[in-house]
Amino acid sequence: MPTAILSPIALVALASVSLATTGRRWWQLLGMMRRSRLPERRLDDLPGRLRAFFVYVLAQGRLLRWPYAGILHALIFWGFVVLLTAIVQGIVEALWQGFHFNQLPGSGALAFLQDTFFFLVICGIAMALFNRLVINPARFRGSHRGDAILILVWIGGLLTCMELNYATRIAEGAPEAVGQWRPVAAALSSIFRPLGTSSEALIVLHGIFFWVHLTLVFGFLVYLGYSKHLHIVTAVFNVFFKNQRPKGALRTVDLEAVMNAEDEADQHFGAGAIEHFSWKDMLDLYTCTECGRCQTHCPAYNTGKVLSPKTLITDLRDHAYENLAGGFAATTHAAHPVGEDGEPVMWVTGDRHPGTLQELPGHFQPSWIAPDDVSTAVQANDGERPLLGGTILEDTLWACTTCGACMDQCPVLIDHVPKILDMRRHLVLDESRLPRQAETALRNIESVANPYGLSHQSRADWAQDLGVQFAADKPDAEYLYWVGCAASFDERARTISTALVKILQAAGVDFAILGTEEKCSGDPARRIGNEYLFQERAKENVEVLRRHNVRKIIASCPHCFNTFANEYRDFGGEYEVIHHTQMIDTLLKSGRITLDDTKAQRETITYHDSCYIGRWNDIFAPPRDILERIPGLRVVEMARSKSEGMCCGAGGGRMWMEEGQPRVNHRRVQQALDTDATKVATACPFCLAMFDEGISAKQLGERIAVDDVAVYVARALKES
Ligand code: SF4
Ligand code: SF4
Repeated sequence: MPTAILSPIALVALASVSLATTGRRWWQLLGMMRRSRLPERRLDDLPGRLRAFFVYVLAQGRLLRWPYAGILHALIFWGFVVLLTAIVQGIVEALWQGFHFNQLPGSGALAFLQDTFFFLVICGIAMALFNRLVINPARFRGSHRGDAILILVWIGGLLTCMELNYATRIAEGAPEAVGQWRPVAAALSSIFRPLGTSSEALIVLHGIFFWVHLTLVFGFLVYLGYSKHLHIVTAVFNVFFKNQRPKGALRTVDLEAVMNAEDEADQHFGAGAIEHFSWKDMLDLYTCTECGRCQTHCPAYNTGKVLSPKTLITDLRDHAYENLAGGFAATTHAAHPVGEDGEPVMWVTGDRHPGTLQELPGHFQPSWIAPDDVSTAVQANDGERPLLGGTILEDTLWACTTCGACMDQCPVLIDHVPKILDMRRHLVLDESRLPRQAETALRNIESVANPYGLSHQSRADWAQDLGVQFAADKPDAEYLYWVGCAASFDERARTISTALVKILQAAGVDFAILGTEEKCSGDPARRIGNEYLFQERAKENVEVLRRHNVRKIIASCPHCFNTFANEYRDFGGEYEVIHHTQMIDTLLKSGRITLDDTKAQRETITYHDSCYIGRWNDIFAPPRDILERIPGLRVVEMARSKSEGMCCGAGGGRMWMEEGQPRVNHRRVQQALDTDATKVATACPFCLAMFDEGISAKQLGERIAVDDVAVYVARALKES
């Protein structure tokens, strides 16, 4: 290749400017991570981390759940990986004049691979542009659309220039162009044939394509650091450093450390400022691709609440850029200041409102804000905005049901829920700002050990006359049945405990309950944000269980299940925890209980997944297997089920808070109605309560009814 065209000096100069600018930006981003005050260790379980890298990065595990978007992304990702070799090849050949890769063995196969993937990436880019410009799914609402289109055109441009560079070399007849191995470039070379081989024009064109290609490559490096496409690099690390603790376990606050902290900056609970998050949280923020998958599955967002998990993450990211990176923000979504009347307001500009700022009610209703308007949202106030009540509205945090759908969908494994909970912790413990009803529930847990505020002494009243023994009288019982507050106090939820006891007794299971020694597991306190109260309850319960030498726990409440299985270990409590649907499933499959065909329930039934045994603990099959075995029942699935099941709206302490219309549980009831089911089965007392409320509010009692899985089984039990 002519030296004048591939000048190593010019290349080194271009690369130096690009790498210096890129390095400066990445240093700034690393600096922001170093300013995080919450320590986090993420180097355990290296095999698991490598596995995650293969599954979620190389195999594009989560992305391929969405076929069209997954395939186009995989084509671009895999193609980009392969074509990196071509980019490096071009740079090496330019720097090392006279050396050509075709001198190496296997270079023909590599050339063929590069050529094939060029074609595939272009197909992927065309599909992506079609997705952005024509399909434009709702999940992109609020994302940086212009940035997404620019980057697609940029990648397409740099790769096309690279391919045309090969094509001109083939047209020149250069042997190192290995035209026989590059069918696409060879086909493109026919465009240049009329110029004649070795013509001056071809050489000039070759130079133009080469330098435009390299300029776009090095420009791309710089641009990455300032765009949402940062994820191209950070996603690899974000996946590698993913949470390896059980999914359902929240991080435990070291209360002692906070209370005894010498540095004033560490004397806080949770996150009230952006630097209160951990370095991994910051990495999460850098990594958001703004794909909107989390938003699509968020029950709060889908019922018009102020919360969108996507904009929560991008708002936090922009807040970090504004406050930790010297004021730079790529674009600002974070426009949720509070108006004079205390109502949040949002200011937007855009095509719909040219040249003006327009004040809109802060209750974020996606349908009445055009995508472009949202993506160009601007700050309405000057000066530094507080994180809570400024960038992030408190209502946003309280709207979350902690259902985990966002985290389950996120292709780059961003953890939304721990961030929301950390901010709630700050509101509750540092500022005592929380919804009034939630405050009442916390006070009840504190005073009478249950959120209902009912007398603790009546906790075991439900079990009277059922022949249930207490652990104090039966110290050697194999299982402890942890009843939970709902199934102890709530009349309707008591149908679960009563049915389960009937089943366990029919199977001859050796079990006992704690009676008044049982106290709230602390889950609602923790999810509302009162970590202090949660830890008090956890330590007390662990001590009671230790005293009774409990090893195996049956839980009919998924929230208690999750707390015992995943969170009590931080307080020295490690148990074999079995959800009641798992227990019943085992009893049925082992033949320890049998069902009576003469009690066939001729109904069509649909099962509603509880988030806390489903998504958080991957228990999907047992309740379904049970229902399949009940004589007469025909089981159908709702459109959203299993890991994509929609929350009932009660999790995250939402059971104890008011909710505006439309309510999450009403939407879920509608989804059940959309099947031809006449019955719904639940496996959680709170889901049961939410379905009850939804059915009665919509006056659907004639059309559909709900009960716990255990109740359906107890009805069909063969009497011995
Ligand atoms: S946990 Fe559920 S409710 Fe909360 S942000 Fe995620 S999807 Fe929305
Ligand atoms: S948080 Fe995850 S799922 Fe949500 S927009 Fe960002 S990358 Fe997509």
